Amino acid sequence: MKDHFDVVVVGAGPVGLLTAIELTLGGARVLVLERLAAPSLITKALAIGPLGIEALQRRGMSAAIANAEERAFAAMKPSSKQAEPTLSDQGPRYVGHFAGLTLIRADAQKDPERRARRVDQQAAEVMLADRALSLGIEVQCDCDVKGLVQQPDVVDVEWASLTGEGRIRCSYLVGCDGGRSSVRKLAGFAFPGTPPTMTMYQAIVEIDRPEKLLPLGFRHTSGGMFAFGFMRNRLIMMDFNGPPEDPQAPVTREEFEGVLRRVSREDVRVTSLESGSRWTDNTRLADTYRQGRVLLAGDAAHVHSPFGGQGMSLGLVDAANLGWKLAAVIRGEMPESLLDTYTAERRPVAEAVLANTRAQTAIMRPDPQSSAMRDVMTKLMEFDEVNRLIGEMMTGLAVRYDLGSACDDIGRLIGNRPVKHGENSLYDVMQEGMGVFLDASLGAGTSRLVAATTQRIPCVTIDSGPSMLIRPDACVAWCGEGQHIDGLEEALRRWFAPAPM
Ligand SMILES: Cc1cc2nc3c(=O)[nH]c(=O)nc-3n(C[C@H](O)[C@H](O)[C@H](O)COP(=O)(O)OP(=O)(O)OC[C@H]3O[C@@H](n4cnc5c(N)ncnc54)[C@H](O)[C@@H]3O)c2cc1C
Repeated sequence: MKDHFDVVVVGAGPVGLLTAIELTLGGARVLVLERLAAPSLITKALAIGPLGIEALQRRGMSAAIANAEERAFAAMKPSSKQAEPTLSDQGPRYVGHFAGLTLIRADAQKDPERRARRVDQQAAEVMLADRALSLGIEVQCDCDVKGLVQQPDVVDVEWASLTGEGRIRCSYLVGCDGGRSSVRKLAGFAFPGTPPTMTMYQAIVEIDRPEKLLPLGFRHTSGGMFAFGFMRNRLIMMDFNGPPEDPQAPVTREEFEGVLRRVSREDVRVTSLESGSRWTDNTRLADTYRQGRVLLAGDAAHVHSPFGGQGMSLGLVDAANLGWKLAAVIRGEMPESLLDTYTAERRPVAEAVLANTRAQTAIMRPDPQSSAMRDVMTKLMEFDEVNRLIGEMMTGLAVRYDLGSACDDIGRLIGNRPVKHGENSLYDVMQEGMGVFLDASLGAGTSRLVAATTQRIPCVTIDSGPSMLIRPDACVAWCGEGQHIDGLEEALRRWFAPAPM
């Protein structure tokens, strides 16, 4: 093992792997330390929101996403016993739900093609690990990070494994080590928020009389909420009887059966339990994502109820935002202050996700007041504008970083689109971790200006405007119509120009 890396990434979950990929594409030497000796088989994410999916597509994973989704739909095919409509009936048009209300309509969304995809967590981790391997990224498993010492120029990281312990030196440390992040605790990040109020369960189970749990889909009862039978006998339950007494205690078939009977109000038995897990609505957000040379991304920076399936997407976009910036600082092309834009841009996005998960928990409760609120919400979602607002809240597509511009496109994360007479797509051009300049200025010399400022932004001529300067994380940094290039040079210097020596 080399003894000094530009960056040590702690955690080889989806966020750690994408962070390592982004950094490596940006030219940094990266080591990933992972506590587990083998990938976790715990069932977590079932789908990834559009912004997370797009972060993967920009780095060459489109085919793997399509394959994973195909496998997921095949596994969701209802058995002949299941005559009732299922969540899977929404197929590729599935655009998510709010608090179990599957009312978000594709036809109310501004850009329905930008949608969540049925890629589960394990599939995402496999495609990310494959990409990391293809880039030669070193992932050291069975390395539990136990200590860190931050010095003015370096960070020393201590880890322990079954076979011994070690120490590694790096210029920057990124904690992508999940909700119970050791890095966050060791570095002393504050992590304020609200404690858990309820327990959520997810498992694959066999039920003695599954017909009693029909119709499929989310069902609110006077005992809580559950959904059973979609995706190979998957059971999800929301139990509002408070948080678990011991969150670390292993889940048992008996516990699942007791909760299912209480929540469903049905006389059913769980005859077998596979990969069961429980989670809470513990909701917390790091007060900053950076302390000197230590940064946080993904669940290490924010935890919330998994309801609505937003966490992984949120974390993947953190990785996309941080990776190219940190690589530019390490190359010496940009000042460290660029890293402050990471917290400034990403923390408010997480804050909004935390808020919507709290709201979902509040209206999912089985009491009459919450039930009445769900009815109000159901009526409101009939209005297209409300439906779009909720849809964009759950997908994150409304996200716009405040880059100080009045232009509505600037600060948005741009979706994929054809370029070069349809021969290529925008994301194809970005596969190697670069930003891009889409030039519709008809020979006004703007491409030359871009090329003179940075080598890392390929220019692509497009037939119709506006021209756009797009960062490697797909954020629109500048846009202009026709031959007007006001503000382009400033944007280039702000995001890409070499730092003054
Ligand atoms: C039930 C459930 C359902 C969910 N459904 C969805 C969904 O549908 N869509 C969605 O987008 N999100 C969903 N989420 C959220 C999603 O699972 C998380 O947001 C995602 O796992 C975060 O990724 P991460 O890489 O930040 O953290 P993790 O996936 O937790 O990865 C952290 C990694 O760090 C390692 N690690 C921890 N400590 C150390 C240490 N000290 N040293 C070295 N390594 C360490 C861990 O072993 C792990 O591999 C769900 C979550 C749950 C619980």
